[in-house]
Amino acid sequence: MQFVPSKNRVQPAGSPAVSDGCALRLSGLCKSFRDVAAVDSVDLDLAHGEILCLLGPSGCGKTTTLRLIAGFDQPDAGTVRIRDRMVCGSGVNVAPEKRRVGMVFQEGALFPHLTVAQNLAFGLKKGRQRKQQVAEALHLVNLSDCAARYPHQLSGGQQQRVALARALAPAPDLMLMDEPFSGLEPGLRGQLRAEVRAILKERGATVVCVTHDQDEAMQLADRVAVMNQGRIEQLGSPEQVFSHPNTRFAAEFFGTADFLPAWQDGAYLASEVGRVPWSASWATPPRQNGELLVMLRPDCLDLESDPESNGAESNGAVVRREFLGGFNLYSVELDSGNRVQVIQSHLTRFDAGMRVRTFLRAGHQLLPFRDGRAL
Ligand code: ATP
Repeated sequence: MQFVPSKNRVQPAGSPAVSDGCALRLSGLCKSFRDVAAVDSVDLDLAHGEILCLLGPSGCGKTTTLRLIAGFDQPDAGTVRIRDRMVCGSGVNVAPEKRRVGMVFQEGALFPHLTVAQNLAFGLKKGRQRKQQVAEALHLVNLSDCAARYPHQLSGGQQQRVALARALAPAPDLMLMDEPFSGLEPGLRGQLRAEVRAILKERGATVVCVTHDQDEAMQLADRVAVMNQGRIEQLGSPEQVFSHPNTRFAAEFFGTADFLPAWQDGAYLASEVGRVPWSASWATPPRQNGELLVMLRPDCLDLESDPESNGAESNGAVVRREFLGGFNLYSVELDSGNRVQVIQSHLTRFDAGMRVRTFLRAGHQLLPFRDGRAL
């Protein structure tokens, strides 16, 4: 984590003010490096107090987007507005330190030769209020007792919280975070994410956080933007993107997903693990003649051993069991040769080779896809 100080009470001259209540607006943002389109026509509006995670695989353009917002890179085209100010585009280019942006980066650290309080005071305007601002920021991250300590006298999680407090202390218009938890061990990461979200919400901070970790995005974000090759593939709440991915890419990147062949069977959408009523909204134009598939998350499916005793038939065999603590994740090979993953409580156990019936859980949907897109 590294802090880039924001001298953020300076109103730069020459930046036109536009007011529409948006905390951040990116319009037609493009940035290429030689023949690589790192950011390709990105449009994005962020509301005040909203936490957005930019999520996607390595090289999809997350960090470049963040750097364009911060002003470390200049876009080839497009504009960036933070609050009421155009900070980039239309002949304007506000320097990074004048964009009123607080930053928390993955690499780097607190200043090791300064105490926690001194680290926080850095970047705040001198004056009577500074002591008060430091005290408030430390209180916010629950580290008031550590003001006089040096960074090496703190745990990794405490150091991250100090870095966050330091970025929040000057009350920036926008917080940018780049993989802020990636240096921590997994257990601490989960705990700190929840704490950080609570702190950011208490402050009403508007945040763009870059991550390649879907769990992080699910836990931290109000909305996620799934990026693919410089473009935003899907933008929505974590629940929306998880339950209704627009594309196969978004489905597979945001959660675990398997795809099975499907067909229209009268009034039903059918697959080898079950069927659901065909929705009128799924009527597809004739040009879409690719294979019809359905998406299945591991929690959509259930398993039954010895189904014959209930008059049903098995339709596959367990290939592998992965123990996840409270759950077992099963890989099942259906008789068609297709494989699906099924999550089950740790209380039930199916051994490899066991014949099972795999079926759609009550209340779960089959989501149809064609040509890589949801119908
Ligand atoms: P990661 O998760 O690995 O950090 P990312 O999604 O943040 O990846 P970016 O760092 O934004 O991706 O990179 C997007 C693309 O632009 C990549 O192909 C990268 O190699 C390229 N790129 C980024 N910065 C530069 C640069 N300064 N010069 C040349 N190419 C660059």
